[in-house]
Amino acid sequence: MLKLENVGKIYSSGSNVSIGIRKVNLELKRGEFVAITGESGSGKSTLLNILSGIDTYEEGEMYVFNEETSYFSIEDLENYRNKYVGFIFQNYNIIDSYSVYKNVEVALMLNGVPKEERKKKAIELINRVGLSHRMRTKASKLSGGEKQRVVIARALSKDPMIIAADEPTGNLDSNSSKEIIELLHEVSKDKLVLIVTHDFNEVSDYATRIIRVYDGEIKEDRLLKKDVIEEETPTEEVTFDNEKPKVKESGIIGLSLTDLFSSPKRSIFYYFVILLMGLYFLVALGAYRNLSRESNVSLSLRFANTDPYRMVVNKKDKSVLSNSDLEYLESLSSTDYIVKKDMILDYYAGLYKYDANSGEDFYINNFVNSASHIKERDLVAGRLPNSDSEIVITVTRDSLNEDYSEFKSFLNQEVNISTYDDSNNNKKYTVVGVIDGSSFNMSQEQYAYFYNDEFMTLSLNYYLSQFVNILIKPDGSTDYYQYSTGLTIYVDDNLSAGEACMNGLSETPQDIKIQDLYGTLLDLKLKYKSSSVNIGYNYNAFILNRTDYDNLINTINNRDYQVTIMLKNSSRAEYVRRTLISNGYNVVIPSIDTKTEFDITGLVKGIYFFMTSSFILQSILIIYVVLLHSIKSRKDDIEILRTIGSTKKQIRRMFAYEFTFIGSTVYLFIVILFIALKMFTKGTFHSVISAITFGDFLLLLFVILLINFLLSLLFTRRMFKNTVRKSLQEN
Ligand code: ADP
Ligand code: MG
Repeated sequence: MLKLENVGKIYSSGSNVSIGIRKVNLELKRGEFVAITGESGSGKSTLLNILSGIDTYEEGEMYVFNEETSYFSIEDLENYRNKYVGFIFQNYNIIDSYSVYKNVEVALMLNGVPKEERKKKAIELINRVGLSHRMRTKASKLSGGEKQRVVIARALSKDPMIIAADEPTGNLDSNSSKEIIELLHEVSKDKLVLIVTHDFNEVSDYATRIIRVYDGEIKEDRLLKKDVIEEETPTEEVTFDNEKPKVKESGIIGLSLTDLFSSPKRSIFYYFVILLMGLYFLVALGAYRNLSRESNVSLSLRFANTDPYRMVVNKKDKSVLSNSDLEYLESLSSTDYIVKKDMILDYYAGLYKYDANSGEDFYINNFVNSASHIKERDLVAGRLPNSDSEIVITVTRDSLNEDYSEFKSFLNQEVNISTYDDSNNNKKYTVVGVIDGSSFNMSQEQYAYFYNDEFMTLSLNYYLSQFVNILIKPDGSTDYYQYSTGLTIYVDDNLSAGEACMNGLSETPQDIKIQDLYGTLLDLKLKYKSSSVNIGYNYNAFILNRTDYDNLINTINNRDYQVTIMLKNSSRAEYVRRTLISNGYNVVIPSIDTKTEFDITGLVKGIYFFMTSSFILQSILIIYVVLLHSIKSRKDDIEILRTIGSTKKQIRRMFAYEFTFIGSTVYLFIVILFIALKMFTKGTFHSVISAITFGDFLLLLFVILLINFLLSLLFTRRMFKNTVRKSLQEN
């Protein structure tokens, strides 16, 4: 059955070379009970390892059923071990975290025994080695003798033709030793039994042959009971069967689950490592997206007005908000009112009263809003405005002083307003009402409320001055270039439609385009001509015909790309945001989203992205290092699985399943956690959470799967770096 011809094995580690065995010739047959003896270091184990396919050799040839083995691949050797050899080692080699039953069952599974049969067979084998009362005991709780019985039961599970035992009683007391040898003899009829022992007496009752090794060579090879050998001769006809046992995928999955649940601490550790990484990954992505969110709104301004009731909305595709869009936004139960051309809301107007004698009297900074949104009962003094020149102002209690010791001291004061252009410079407003700013929800900033018509005028002028550009195509040129930003318009009916006058341009006719951020508003021809309107030195001043002016204003008024919703209740903001986002809008809540001091430039985004990705890389590295450490603890178990016949591929799949199992539960957990967080958090953290997109979750899934794949590759590679023999020796 097994034949060695001049087989030699040399160990070389670095510069040290030692001989394992040399020029060994042997022929072994089924039915033999062979005792291999010799002093320590003589080469017994080396011989046994080569015979049983645990180790390779350099010289000579070993035949298994007449098949040459010197060219066997790792898989071929695995297959040989798996099918024909049952192993019993001195140090037991059972998986301590598994029960007795599981240890045997796994071996059956790896041999392709179907599930239904496995149970019956495992119980039968365990009974056979006398451990039926220990069936469910964890292997770590067994005595040495009992462990060795489990090993024997496991070795028998594949009904191997060869039993290879390397000092199986080396760690046992003499009574247990006797029992184990008896058991081995009992269960090994018709098999080739190879027992390495330094105490021949132990096996003398049963041995049919003794091989004595000395210094790597066979010094004695003697038959003890001739009769047995003749009996087994016919079985020599067996040929080497290269067919691999069919192990069902469910078996491998079962193995990985057993592995996960039999060492819960280790599994929980992996779980948390991957969980932490996943959480960081998502939060980092969310924070990144939250930062970018502001620039999603078409006018990528920073919103100065961070009124907590304010919510800025545009369409995801940045198209014009249709009437039905506006109706929908207006109809939301949380909407108080809507401000179109809401850029004016960010304008921080200085309201001041200047006294020619005493200098500045007072100066208040307020945002601009329409008085149509306030009620008489909001006022602490005065009334609502009735004309363009009347305003209501918010005053905080802190700003009251000796001269203005009461809210009502501000009533009937005439104030100027500092504006964005010089068109409004000398306009005076009379304060007719006062609101106590301290009682309003807005933290520091308050409003100056204008009569609605005046508010509309201010709003339009602000839009024209900030968001409308003049482009010019000089005669003879083919391209327009930007001449200025902002427009202060004067109307003069001396001009015809399509004509315009401006400061600072030459007499030659030039084409002019008036444009806002969304496109062209008007095409005109510049006409140099003295006009009745005095436009002073205002660079942006522009004189138009009435028709063109109306046209321009109409176009602007009918195009809303962005509006502000003022909410009835600021605590509903995130809820409304979710609703709107799912209905195809972009939403910025300035009070929540724009707390950062800096502008979101590409550079900042880049740095942030870099930090995020480098952190992710770092955490992968940490996981790698930590797991490398834990590979050591797994190595023992994996080696055992290998000796009982599991292949490299199966182990890799087992790892893949384990990590996939952990990965997918982590993933599920994260998804549920984030849904919960989205529902129950508020403020900045909430907006970070809600900034995470569906795509991000998919990306996370991909990353987790990728990491799992890499980890199982890594694990398998580490585990299989050495031959089984080498790894076992290291243990
Ligand atoms: P035994 O089992 O009889 O005690 P071994 O077969 O283990 O002997 O060892 C035979 C010889 O091979 C010894 O000289 C030993 O030092 C050497 N040897 C065994 N394993 C290794 C190894 N992994 N590396 C180097 N030398 C080894
Ligand atoms: Mg040895």
